Amino acid sequence: MTLINCSECGREVSDKATACPNCGNPIGAQHIKQPTLIEQTSKTWKFTQLLGWILMLFGVFIFFPSFNMRGLRDPMAGLGILVFSLGILTALVGKFEAWWHHS
Ligand SMILES: [Zn+2]
Repeated sequence: MTLINCSECGREVSDKATACPNCGNPIGAQHIKQPTLIEQTSKTWKFTQLLGWILMLFGVFIFFPSFNMRGLRDPMAGLGILVFSLGILTALVGKFEAWWHHS
């Protein structure tokens, strides 16, 4: 058993204690919760990146068949470009946020 300083009130508390007896600040939970929080945020952004890739794929699938038949005038070709651009944007946001949260 070692004594650590409470991050809230600075009082010495046992590291085995779940909460500070002085202010009630959770001690043990802090060490466990922090890594899981980072893991969860990175998972969220990985999902965002995946969603971006799916959107890009959808955009390609919408764009090419209509483009081959009727060219860029086809509203579906425009929709394909729009979905594809949205996918790139979503993937970029996911990449940026993942980088931001890890550094
Ligand atoms: Zn405290």
